[in-house]
Amino acid sequence: MIILQFIDSQKTLALGKIVCLGRNYAEHAKEMHTEVPSFPVIFLKPPSAVISDGMTIVRPSISREMHHEVELVVAIGKRGKNIPASAALSHVCGYAVGLDMTLRDVQSEAKKKGLPWSVAKGFDTSAPVSAIVPSSRIPDPQALTISCKVNGAVRQRTSTGKMIFSVPAMIEYVSSIFTLEEGDLLFTGTPEGVGPVNAGDVISADLEGFTSITLHVAAA
Ligand code: MG
Repeated sequence: MIILQFIDSQKTLALGKIVCLGRNYAEHAKEMHTEVPSFPVIFLKPPSAVISDGMTIVRPSISREMHHEVELVVAIGKRGKNIPASAALSHVCGYAVGLDMTLRDVQSEAKKKGLPWSVAKGFDTSAPVSAIVPSSRIPDPQALTISCKVNGAVRQRTSTGKMIFSVPAMIEYVSSIFTLEEGDLLFTGTPEGVGPVNAGDVISADLEGFTSITLHVAAA
């Protein structure tokens, strides 16, 4: 079992499932040459994909092109099914910053063939996540800034106010399909600026003013 830590406290959370949103920022959809979706694009990562601050992201040997995708991560604190958007934030216990590491070459091939993204998105080390900031400190999840640097250079930086599907809208939709349980994480999609990282690079992801993570990159 993987245990997630909260910042500034002894509180912990046992990790559950990981539900991710694709294409949740218009500018990222544009750079990927895809349409802005009329309903959320959903995929899953296995809990074994999660790593924490200071660890190493390892690109598997099946890929030559691994991209960073910085994302706001929502931690679920209360079980629910068919949660209305109006009640959604009462199911959230905190927020983190995460990286949805993606094997872009493997994903492009899967898209072409109409195959699932499990390999491209769910490989070991594909889900670095920071410690959790309690939701009491973040009243509005659409008023945050997330950013990502590679070797000190800013690659992605945006306001979460630019999301197509807000955190409450995402929880309403996701919980109509999957029962959400304490310890589940929702990756809320990445803004524009995604790009490759290679062995020897250092990536940092920041939920500005709250928490950050720094990871090394290696190749298998
Ligand atoms: Mg993503």
